[in-house]
Amino acid sequence: MTVQTMNKPKSTSSFVEEFMAKVKARNGWETEFLQAAQEVVESVALVMDRHPEYAKAKILDRVVEPERVIQFRVPWMDDFGEVHVNRGFRVEFNSAIGPYKGGLRFHPSVNLGILKFLGFEQIFKNALTTLPMGGGKGGSDFDPKGKSDTEVMRFCQSFMTELCRHIGPNTDVPAGDIGVGGREIGFMFGQYKRIRNEFTGVLTGKAINWGGSLIRPEATGYGTVYFAEEMLAVKGKNLKGMTCLASGSGNVAQYLTEKCIELGAKVVTLSDSGGFIHDPDGIDTKKLQWVMDLKNVRRGRINEYVEQFPNATYTPVDPGLDHNPLWNVKADAAFPCATQNEVNAKDAQNLVNNGVQVISEGANMPTLPEGVDIFLDAGIHYGLGKAANAGGVAVSGLEMSQNSLRLGWSREEVDNKLKGIMKAIHRQSYDASKEYGCEGNYVVGANIAGFKKIADTMMDQGLV
Ligand code: NDP
Repeated sequence: MTVQTMNKPKSTSSFVEEFMAKVKARNGWETEFLQAAQEVVESVALVMDRHPEYAKAKILDRVVEPERVIQFRVPWMDDFGEVHVNRGFRVEFNSAIGPYKGGLRFHPSVNLGILKFLGFEQIFKNALTTLPMGGGKGGSDFDPKGKSDTEVMRFCQSFMTELCRHIGPNTDVPAGDIGVGGREIGFMFGQYKRIRNEFTGVLTGKAINWGGSLIRPEATGYGTVYFAEEMLAVKGKNLKGMTCLASGSGNVAQYLTEKCIELGAKVVTLSDSGGFIHDPDGIDTKKLQWVMDLKNVRRGRINEYVEQFPNATYTPVDPGLDHNPLWNVKADAAFPCATQNEVNAKDAQNLVNNGVQVISEGANMPTLPEGVDIFLDAGIHYGLGKAANAGGVAVSGLEMSQNSLRLGWSREEVDNKLKGIMKAIHRQSYDASKEYGCEGNYVVGANIAGFKKIADTMMDQGLV
């Protein structure tokens, strides 16, 4: 037995080591998947102690194995007549509580290990939302950056020509993720409809005219802020007047900034893969509108911000540095919203040293395990992605409900439901952390609450 710091679990380390050795033997090169699995296994070791029936039924062994993995060729032609071949994937990880649900990522870094990590996280995240959605994830190593609209369309059509055989409104319902926004969802929806001759809610993140939900574009960013507010409320605090750091400048970062402005907080940074901007005056509504136009319409780079707003500075990424200077800007709250593993131990230490009080993750697994330990040891409010960013998939679930009902709810109705769901996620995670002796440790709490729902359901459904 190892006894760790106060708000961490006293877990049976030999169980974790033995279990992870088996997972590593099977999935050795899938670094991100192993990282995600390690965190969940460490958290749920205590549950396994209390529930020998889960061990007997090999629930954990089954949970780490996807139900199905689909990999396919995606040939497409660029505007100059040259043929390209990308790889497409869909990982259908777990359908215990509903149809597979999770985004599609188009980014050159995409490989099976990354999609397995994202699909695995999605199982527990979706369970926490209280909605009936299983876990899945997919995508391609295609890079939409620098491609024309017609190239993106041809790629999306080719991708969906194969994917449409494997998905459906009651089977598997993909959404967007990095590199997949409204434009890509539109092209893929059009191709699905054309091939299957069906107008159904097979994708979420659709535009409002053809089956989308109000608040879906905003949901992940808004939800991440709502989760931060819930964590702060435990100590009677809120975000008003706080200086906030955000990374990324895509869908999640944009709407997170919007909600922070609305709540009286000041976001002073945004980034992309080239570097970050620091605007000490804060990004107000007008500046945010400009960023939205830059990123979503003109598809430009964040360094253009400083030409428009000269009080801000731009710092390019320096690959030689052992930390990201964005996380060394003094602030009260931090919201990583770009990608996995963007906050290392040094970054985490810088944030803590600078007095940050709350971290809420818009991105999936943005903090490395050593960084997470630093946050937990410092006793700050740390909301891990699978709880904090679940608002996106939650409103996707609400989009599915509206599609089934063939009606649309008002903005206010959806936003209220989103707030209620984020509250419920916080409550379940907090209660589970308390029940297992680690009050306020949302890593342990969220993993346990999500896992128990999946485990109980799998027990009900027999050996599947
Ligand atoms: P977008 O494609 O809209 O934006 C991604 C942003 O992150 C861009 O600014 C991008 O910069 C930056 N970024 C991506 N990869 C890297 C990298 N390797 N290094 C540095 N910066 C990078 O994606 P989203 O905003 O939708 O997604 C952001 C994160 O939020 C992801 O982790 C995603 O999984 C997670 N998430 C998204 C949800 C959603 O509803 N969209 C739901 C839940 C989680 P650049 O343009 O230079 O690539």
